[in-house]
Amino acid sequence: MKFLITSGVEKQLLEAAASAAPEECCGLLLGRPGHIETAVPARNVARDRTRSFEMDPAVLLRTHREARGAGKQVIGHYHSHPNGVAEPSKRDAARALENGQLWLIIAAGSLTAWQAAAEGTLHNRFHPITLEPA
Ligand SMILES: [Zn+2]
Repeated sequence: MKFLITSGVEKQLLEAAASAAPEECCGLLLGRPGHIETAVPARNVARDRTRSFEMDPAVLLRTHREARGAGKQVIGHYHSHPNGVAEPSKRDAARALENGQLWLIIAAGSLTAWQAAAEGTLHNRFHPITLEPA
C-alpha cells in the first residue's frame, strides 16, 4: 500500500525532528485515505522524552474537533526516533491499536510510514507503507 505526502509536510517533519533532538517530536497527521495533507505538531508530554512520546491531550482534542469541522480526517500521527532506528519500536507496537491508523517515523533524516493492523509484518502489528510525493 502507498500514501501520498504533500512535500511541505515532509520538510516540516524533518525540521521538527531535527530541532527536537535529542528528544522525540510528535504530532497528528490530517488528510484523507491515502494522502497525508497536513501535520499538526503536539507538545511531547512524556516523562522521558528522549525515549518515548505522549501527545499533549489538549492538542489531541482540539485537532480532532477542528478536523471534523473542516471535513478532514485524522489519519494517523508521527513521532521521531532520535536514536536513528527507522521503524516502530516494540514499545510503539505495544501501544498501537489495530485500527488502520498511520504511524509515521522520522529517523536519520528520512520518513518511514506504517499502518497499525492485526498480523502486521513488523512486531505483528505494523505493515510498511510506501510514501510518494503528492
Ligand atoms: Zn517510536
